[in-house]
Amino acid sequence: MQLFDGGERPLAAIVTALDVAVPFTARAARMLGLPGLSEETSFAVRDKREMRRRLEQAGLNTPAYVGLSGPEDWKFAADLVFPVVVKPAGGFTSLGVTRVDSAEDLETTVRSVWEVCERYLGYGGSSAQFEGLVVEEYLDGDEYCIESLSYQGQVKIHTIGYKGRPEGPYFEEKVYRAPAPLSPEVEWSIIEQITGAHAALGVTDGPTHSELRLRGDEAYLLEMGARVGASGASHHIVESVTGADFTGDTFRIAMGQEPLGWNDPVWHRGTGAMYFVPVGGSGRITKIAGLSEAAADPRVDRIVQLLHPGDRILPYPEYSGYPGFVFSRHDSYEDAEQFHDALDESVVIHYE
Ligand code: ADP
Ligand code: CA
Ligand code: CA
Ligand code: CA
Repeated sequence: MQLFDGGERPLAAIVTALDVAVPFTARAARMLGLPGLSEETSFAVRDKREMRRRLEQAGLNTPAYVGLSGPEDWKFAADLVFPVVVKPAGGFTSLGVTRVDSAEDLETTVRSVWEVCERYLGYGGSSAQFEGLVVEEYLDGDEYCIESLSYQGQVKIHTIGYKGRPEGPYFEEKVYRAPAPLSPEVEWSIIEQITGAHAALGVTDGPTHSELRLRGDEAYLLEMGARVGASGASHHIVESVTGADFTGDTFRIAMGQEPLGWNDPVWHRGTGAMYFVPVGGSGRITKIAGLSEAAADPRVDRIVQLLHPGDRILPYPEYSGYPGFVFSRHDSYEDAEQFHDALDESVVIHYE
């Protein structure tokens, strides 16, 4: 296939915010003669088995894990130290991700996660990008999200944000606040693991959205997405904290240009926050209380509401998507935390 005939460039840049489109975008960029990730890297950041293999090979922190190519492979994971987490190799938004506390429950969970993958990720058909699961040891510490840009192999971490300490068995996201208060030991471990992961996975240009969890003071990468993350929320977080034009810089890198102020240090001048409206049940929604009051708060930038009265939330492990998000800015981390605690009381979904 030829998309670019050497004449006028049909496109100046190609960028995606969608994780499943990262390999397509890498391939299209190469065909168009535009900067982008190698195709090999684009698959390594999409397939959690390949990602784990590369991180381990590079000597980075890796929980014990097993890759499964079918549900009957569950036996290979029975020797791990429980609790473990079962997840799709190429999933997103925690779809199907499930904690299992004992070896007796492993087979049932692996089979039910596989069924979720058949329904939502095309396993067993022709549309699946990767068919497989990862089973890995459960990391019990705090969770963090890291927004970075890289340009010509140099990595610049823009923000490290706090993501709570979700315990499962299903991992609904709740909060995202940056910059997170960190001890020097933890901050150092996060920087080391994130920088090392870019090198191990070959991510040399463009944005990354990474998630990691602690075990003691040590950071363990959960995944690295090679895109502006969290459906664009990464931009809100970085912009609120540093003032950087994060999405604009993503386009600049995709056009082969240096990001703005690339040689300047990152300066934290505010706090960015995101609240995930909790599902809090299942069934047909009759009312979502508290959102219009939140919208009137001067600290709130924007509310994105994705589900409305009349929509139906399916019980876990089924997938319905998030009901909505509240984006806000604060003068301090403590203020963001208090605001989120208040939303926990005031924002409630009512079901039929
Ligand atoms: P997805 O690509 O679907 O977002 P993740 O690997 O990010 O999948 O997992 C979703 C969530 O599940 C994480 O944000 C984290 O809260 C939890 N999780 C995943 N793996 C582990 C693990 N090994 N230990 C503890 N929690 C985990
Ligand atoms: Ca993901
Ligand atoms: Ca994730
Ligand atoms: Ca996420």
